[in-house]
Order: sequence, then C-alpha cells, then structure tokens
Amino acid sequence: MYQYNPKSLIADEFINDGEIRETLAYAEEHKNDRELIEQILEKARPKKQDKGYVCSGLTHREASVLLASDLPEVNEKIFQIANEIKLAYYGNRIVMFAPLYLSNYCVNGCLYCPYHLKNKHIPRKKLTQEELREEVIALQDLGHKRLAIEAGEDPVNNPIEYILECIHTIYSIHHKNGDIRRVNVNIAATTVENYRKLHEAGIGTYILFQETYHKESYLKLHPTGPKHDYNYHTEAMDRAMEGGIDDVGLGVLFGLELYKYEFAGILMHAEHLEAVHGVGPHTISVPRLKRADDIDPDEFDNGISDEIFEKIVACIRLAVPYTGMIISTRENEKVREKVLHLGISQISGGSRTSVGGYAGYTPEERPHDTEQFDVSDQRSLDEVVKWLMENGHVPSFCTACYREGRTGDRFMALCKSGQILNCCHPNALMTLAEYLEDYASPETKEIGYALIEKELEKIPREKTKEIAKQNIADIRSSNRRDFRF
Ligand code: SAM
Repeated sequence: MYQYNPKSLIADEFINDGEIRETLAYAEEHKNDRELIEQILEKARPKKQDKGYVCSGLTHREASVLLASDLPEVNEKIFQIANEIKLAYYGNRIVMFAPLYLSNYCVNGCLYCPYHLKNKHIPRKKLTQEELREEVIALQDLGHKRLAIEAGEDPVNNPIEYILECIHTIYSIHHKNGDIRRVNVNIAATTVENYRKLHEAGIGTYILFQETYHKESYLKLHPTGPKHDYNYHTEAMDRAMEGGIDDVGLGVLFGLELYKYEFAGILMHAEHLEAVHGVGPHTISVPRLKRADDIDPDEFDNGISDEIFEKIVACIRLAVPYTGMIISTRENEKVREKVLHLGISQISGGSRTSVGGYAGYTPEERPHDTEQFDVSDQRSLDEVVKWLMENGHVPSFCTACYREGRTGDRFMALCKSGQILNCCHPNALMTLAEYLEDYASPETKEIGYALIEKELEKIPREKTKEIAKQNIADIRSSNRRDFRF
C-alpha cells in the first residue's frame, strides 16, 4: 500500500490512488457546501498588489470541490474568476503554434491511437531531412515561429539521434524573413541522458501527455510496448528536469477515464513538480479523444460534454494560475472561442496532424492517410489570426522568454512581478507586426495594425512604449525582424 507523498519520486506515491479516491469522496461530500465553496473561491481570486496581481492557486482537493459542485451560481463564479486570472496574467494575448509530425512509426499498442503497431493499413512515414526542410519552409511561409514536434515511439526508426538531427535542421532554416524560434518536443518518455541532449539542442518545452493517471486503466490502454510501463512514463518529467529541462508540459487525454479522477491527478502532478523542483509545469494541455483511422471514440465510455470540458479548463485556471494552458485544433471554433476566456493561453492554427501534411498542399487541401486524429478546426492560420483579433485577442508569435533565459521559475517571477505588460505585451505586438507584414492577407493586415495601435497604449512604461513603436515602424519599413524585450 503506497502512502501519498508529493515529494516522493515514485509515481504511486506522488500520484496516489488512495489520495485521489479520498479527494473525490471529499469533493462529493462538500459539493454543495456553500460556505466552504465561498472560501475556496475567495482564495482563488487574483489579489491586486502595488506591482500587479498575486494568486495563490488551489490545492487538488479545493479545486476538486469546485469541479464537483453543480450549483449554477458557483459555476458562474468559477468562470468569472477564471476570466479575471486570465486577464491579470496573460492579458488578451494568445500564443500561436503548430504541430509538426516527424514520423508515425511506433512500437506501442495504445488502444486510442491510430499509430499503434498493429495498425497495418496506415502508411508509415518518416520525414527525411530534405522533406523536413520543405515542411519547415511551408510552416514559415504560413507565419509560424513556434512548433511542437511530434513522433511515435520507435527506437529503431525514430531514435534520439533522429529527433536531435531534426531539431538542428529546423533551427537552421531561414527562409525569406521566416525562422522557427522555439521547438517544443512531444516524444515518448526517455532517459535523463536523452533529456539532457534535448536540452542541449535548445528545445523549448518538453511535452508528454500522461494520457490517464488511473494506473489500472493506463496498463489496459497501453497493453504492449515500452509505454506500458506506467511508472517510467509518469516519472518522466522528473527525469526531464534532472536533465536540465526547466519547462515541461503536462496533459491528459480526456475521454479515456473519469474526468474527475484525471483532474485530481494532473493537479497532484503539478504539486509534485513544485514540491520537488520548486517550479510547476510550464503548460497543461487538455486534449480530448478524437475519431481517427481505426479509432472510434464512441467505444470509450468516458467522453465529456463541451460544458464539462469548459469547466475543467476554468478550474485548472483557478488551481494553477501561473501555468500556461494549451488547446489544439482537436476542438472546434465554438469551443475554442469559449475557453479562450477561461484561461487558455496558447492555441494551434492551420494544423496538420499527418506526416508531411504541410508542404505542397493549399490551405484547403488536407492529406488524411497518415493523420493522427481528425482536426475539428480546419481554418487556415490567417483565418484563425483574424478571428482572434475580431474577438478582442492579440495573437502572439513571441518566443522571447526562453530565448532570454526566462524559463522555469524565472518566467513565473515575471508573472508575479507585474512586468507582463511591459514585456510580454510589446513582444506580442512586435511579433504580430512581423506576421502582418510578411504573411497576412490584406484584410487581416488592416485589422491587425488597427489593433496594434490600440494595444500599444496599454504599455505602462513610456520608454518601453516608444521603443516598441519604433521597432514596429522598422518592421513595416525594412526587413529588420526579431526585436524583443
Ligand atoms: N508518441 C508520443 C508519446 O508516446 O507520448 C507522443 C506523440 S503523440 C503523436 C501526441 C498525443 O496525441 C498523444 O500523447 C495522445 O494523447 C494524443 N492522441 C493519440 N491518439 C489520439 C486520438 N485518437 N485523439 C486525440 N488525441 C490523440
């Protein structure tokens, strides 16, 4: 019998089944306890201080009570506070990225993923460095600066040397005014030594979805292959941090297990990273299971409604206010619009989930043969950027923090010191100007420059505002790029 211990390095102790079950029972018991709920909501609210806002976050138990509550007025308050936190720390900026699939060779047997080894009718493909160059140029031509590279787990076809070579190639390509300035990596759990190599290759965030924190289900859902090892997978982030990677990204695949269990689990994981490494996860992703080649999501019993999904996002925002939250094109426009106000800080746009899905295709064409899952939001990046701006958001292509060494707790310090408006906001506006100048349609460009003009006025420090204005003027009149604070 394992005891709950957030400081332990053993998966069964920091993600403790007994503690999760007790949390769920506690949440059920208190879900209509108005006095307790009011105290929890008060704790979650951002508090204004002289320099900015401070948020204390919530424990997994507190946040689980909010998630369990079905009082309509409580839900309303949760959504409202989530929006307040989002505006206090992230403002109206939304960071843009795109996934880049390198290889769908995989030796695992994941029951929800079409890349599983036994799927013999899906073509297997691995990008050569030349094909990768074409993909990267196509992505640069769309306007992307930040990628998340994805690959199946296959030590023979996709060894770490292949991944490192790809990262090197991606960073080396400078097509016209384009370049990829941050490569996040979503590959299978690996060794400390390999994480160190990824760190040395200059990656941004190391992302690994837990899929499910429910060990028994995890073992059934991953019947074969190295991913079957629940403890090795769950302890991966500790190895990544030991290997020098400061920014790690968590996620669960909603639909595989009961969402309340997953919710408590992911928050416990965040608390564990904070307890052991002094810094929580850089991001949390909230993917939902989708239809894919030989995968029918209806065969899984734990699908969640849009309403519950939105509440999960809001409750995560209250619990871990300093952690970025990512939503992919697995979600449609309507859901994306809603959750942008509840705490999402990063979204993908114009995504292709197939190997070689960008080069040689028009924005309307979409290859399906090697796709990992169906994409719900099929709009082009330009359409997504325009839509964001029309809804009052500032699409940001900024990658400054990690390039200026503001990773891990240094990024959190920036959040807490109230300097975001003097730093992230001008960076967002300058990178948006690059996008408008180099890649946007005339209509998007017009809307964008009007927005930039308005948003520049929000920068509190006069000197910073002046520099930002000058840099944007330079971007418009020359090929000078990559300004940052
Ligand atoms: N192979 C890597 C690993 O083992 O962690 C990760 C890369 S995989 C390409 C990225 C993520 O896609 C997986 O972690 C999983 O959560 C998600 N995924 C797999 N099948 C999916 C499906 N049918 N619908 C939605 N997401 C899916």
